[in-house]
Amino acid sequence: MKVKIFPLSIPYITDPPSEWVDQWGVQLYVKVEDGEYYGWGETLIAGSGIIGAYSSIISDLIKPLLENMSLNSPYELENLLEKIMFSAGNCGVVTGAISSVEMGFWGLMSRRIKVPLYELFGGKFRDSVKVYASFPRFPRIEDVIKAVEIAKEKGFNFIKLHQSPNSILEAVKKIRENYKEIKIAIDLNAPFDINKAKDFLENISRYEIEWVEEPLWPPNDYYTLEKLTKISPVPIAAGENEYTLYGFRRLLESGISYLQPDIAKIGGISKFLKVLDLASSYNVKIAPHDRPDRSPISLIYTLNLALAREEIEIVEYPIAEFPQDLFPLLPVFKKGYAIPPDNIEVNERIIEEKYPFINKIRILHFSDLEDKLKQ
Ligand SMILES: [Mg+2]
Repeated sequence: MKVKIFPLSIPYITDPPSEWVDQWGVQLYVKVEDGEYYGWGETLIAGSGIIGAYSSIISDLIKPLLENMSLNSPYELENLLEKIMFSAGNCGVVTGAISSVEMGFWGLMSRRIKVPLYELFGGKFRDSVKVYASFPRFPRIEDVIKAVEIAKEKGFNFIKLHQSPNSILEAVKKIRENYKEIKIAIDLNAPFDINKAKDFLENISRYEIEWVEEPLWPPNDYYTLEKLTKISPVPIAAGENEYTLYGFRRLLESGISYLQPDIAKIGGISKFLKVLDLASSYNVKIAPHDRPDRSPISLIYTLNLALAREEIEIVEYPIAEFPQDLFPLLPVFKKGYAIPPDNIEVNERIIEEKYPFINKIRILHFSDLEDKLKQ
């Protein structure tokens, strides 16, 4: 199998403008080819945009390895790569790099046996997928309100906010004053200790919140998370920073209400399917994470998974437009639901022409970094 790597930058443009124009403007695509068929995959470049670490795993190890091998199963590929790299830690950069290649393998198989992706994932259970509008961070509360208005006009009835821990309460209050009916989730990205988290959850609970996502630092402290879920007046969501099946099991046992695995981080689709099987014996809803930038590759796979798998409740969806010049086939959104294309097609020529990778430091002000870096 041949693997081609494409680093690129799709600027994150929204109305109103957000604080993350550059931070969400870093993408890594791969094209997997077997001589006759091909598939596209995408790695989520986490950790403030350190693209070289991810791409070097693919170019220095995965690409030469696969050139001389014939593999017939993405599960086999994922397992093999985890075994080869386990002493580097099967999480973060390692599983992120595996993700795009593994995903591309499914895309290739879908073409090889001439069926849509959802058929590979078990067959169509539903015709469209419930999605929510995932906001970036906006500089001002007025911007948040304007974004809510635009999202409503587009047909969204469910939004998720990424405002800083300091300003989120005020933003929610303002939204509720103007919009009684809209569903609101809050993503904190792991800022608080348990006492601050408790205070926050108590204060926010009066505004009818669908879930609060990753309230605690560090996000993998399952023991403290369990203490919090027991007393929280608001449902808790987590999972976008979890990588192993054993970690997902600990997370499920902590009593969270929503689990949020990301196929572009955990090692791809075969791992995701195992997580779904694991989660099916817990009382938890699956709300897959997908970074809501303007890049739709991993989103199209996730939506196809959601067409086939009943456990998936709702999928994270961008408010920004997809680049139509790059993607001849895109998801169609209507009234809170999305229908994905059957597979991914990319105008390869356009990547270099219009979206060349721009290397720069892109620190994402997650957690409580906004306060820390201002000092
Ligand atoms: Mg999140």
